[in-house]
Amino acid sequence: MPDLTIEYYACCAERFRAHTIKVPSSRPGAAYTVTISPSREASCDCPAFKYSRHGTCKHLPLAEAKVCSWTAFVGPEVQEEEGKCPRCGGPTASEGWAV
Ligand SMILES: [Zn+2]
Ligand SMILES: [Zn+2]
Repeated sequence: MPDLTIEYYACCAERFRAHTIKVPSSRPGAAYTVTISPSREASCDCPAFKYSRHGTCKHLPLAEAKVCSWTAFVGPEVQEEEGKCPRCGGPTASEGWAV
């Protein structure tokens, strides 16, 4: 058994919310919808995702980049006000990290 300690760090509450994000397609005028669940599982309604064996497509990282993913553990921003995310100004939650 590895000897792991769980420590709790502040993180942006956006990480635990469901998101629906439109990502423009390479085809002009078209867009795909990426859905990110609170458990950070992402899916996309584009054909590449549908037929992907690995459950991914190029839209997922684009959509994930739009969701604030700040954590006090990873930073790099330092939280100056308790309960407030230094990156997006939204509320924070706490997340356990094995250290
Ligand atoms: Zn896609
Ligand atoms: Zn944030």
